[in-house]
Amino acid sequence: MPNYSDLINIEEFGDKKEGFNPERWDVSFYCKDCKEIVETDRPNPDKYVFICKKCGWKNIVLGTLEGLKSNYRIK
Ligand SMILES: [Zn+2]
Repeated sequence: MPNYSDLINIEEFGDKKEGFNPERWDVSFYCKDCKEIVETDRPNPDKYVFICKKCGWKNIVLGTLEGLKSNYRIK
């Protein structure tokens, strides 16, 4: 069973972003358009908006690498 608790979808993040600091986490970024783990740009440090370096879109999910792998069945 995938463990959804260690997956954060920033689209659904809402009020929970309080106290969330990606720099302190061992987070990876999954692009739902590219369907793979990608590098991201964060144009505004004050906002939780991440842009896929590959496709340039913002369809990014944050999570632990293990969580993302199990949720999206990445090899
Ligand atoms: Zn992408």
